Amino acid sequence: MTKTIYIVGLGLIGSSLALGIRKAHPEYRIVGYNRGEQSRTIALKRGIVDEGTDDISHFAAEADMIFLCVPIQQTIRFLEELSTLPLKEGVIVTDAGSTKEAIVEAAETYLSAKNLQFIGGHPMAGSHKTGANAADVHLFENAYYILTPSRLTQTSTVSRLKEVLSGLQARFVEMDAAEHDRVTSQISHFPHILASSLMNQAGTYRQDHPFTQHFAAGGFRDMTRIAESDPGMWTSILLTNQSNIIERLEEFGKRLKVIQHQIEAGDADAIWQFFNQGREIRKEMEIHKRAGIDSFYDLFINIPDQEDTILTVLELLRGISVVNIRINEENRADIHGVLQITFKNKEDLERAEGIIRTQTSYQVFVD
Ligand code: NAD
Repeated sequence: MTKTIYIVGLGLIGSSLALGIRKAHPEYRIVGYNRGEQSRTIALKRGIVDEGTDDISHFAAEADMIFLCVPIQQTIRFLEELSTLPLKEGVIVTDAGSTKEAIVEAAETYLSAKNLQFIGGHPMAGSHKTGANAADVHLFENAYYILTPSRLTQTSTVSRLKEVLSGLQARFVEMDAAEHDRVTSQISHFPHILASSLMNQAGTYRQDHPFTQHFAAGGFRDMTRIAESDPGMWTSILLTNQSNIIERLEEFGKRLKVIQHQIEAGDADAIWQFFNQGREIRKEMEIHKRAGIDSFYDLFINIPDQEDTILTVLELLRGISVVNIRINEENRADIHGVLQITFKNKEDLERAEGIIRTQTSYQVFVD
């Protein structure tokens, strides 16, 4: 019998999940709820879903699996609403929310009386884009997809869910909802607060120091990229992970005080240790691995800011498969920029390094 998958919320995450499910299971019937007409129409036109509705109850009783892909607080409201609707026996309900404890608690509160299975989910990939227009079948490739079991999870729940989501090519990890919220408060929620604080600080500072506007590049840009994220989503995240985030903020405040005192005291050794420790920890963590992919092989080339330099380099490397290219610009035109070229394997990297060293005068170094 054909399975019916119900995607509730046809935004970036819901529509991308639908595309991934369809890729591995073209025979499934995928139906979607979306409050606004725009994403619903796009999802129908692009064949992301077979049928659409603006009333969550419409397909609820027909679904074998329900994915709640709306903002966290709305996910909680829908869990309550699902408890009042007729549902199929044994239906699996899951969600995509960026925080997990509040959602798992709500599911246990509202759905315990129902004959269904619930497991929390957090596909850890996204972008600052929203809506069905931004749907991308590759969004979750190699990304971690966290599953947080609840009292309503059975042993078969996880395997059935993974099977339905096999087309995503994500990396599934099971963990406790509370631990998920602690870890993400450190590596995701708190950094978003920092990025927006930096932008807000620079915004005020530029009023008296207009060059702030022009010199903000390089490191500042890298550190504040995520300040472009959706304010509604981030408000929801902060309000459903309050205690962990406040604890991280307080701990960070103490760290800032320590480095402030070291600067005031002119303590060069302590300041050096501060930077060195950060550098060492960054090297140890998986930060250099894109989406946790095991190994990447990077070549860095110091290139002058001249016309055609990049084309010349790429021409020399013709025939070698390149995974990614990035230009680490400086904000002064008269000094070198760094061209970072990423290769799939060590052999390609070594071949490329040899070519650039022998056929150009550019300085080359390897990560
Ligand atoms: P989105 O803005 O692209 O889509 C949100 C969807 O929710 C839309 O379909 C919108 O119509 C619907 N919606 C919003 N408010 C609603 C309301 N009050 N009632 C009914 N429907 C409503 O956002 P998204 O990025 O797809 O986020 C969806 C969920 O996925 C959120 O819970 C978010 O925390 C989580 N998530 C997002 C990302 C990311 O980077 N974007 C990553 C992982 C998880």
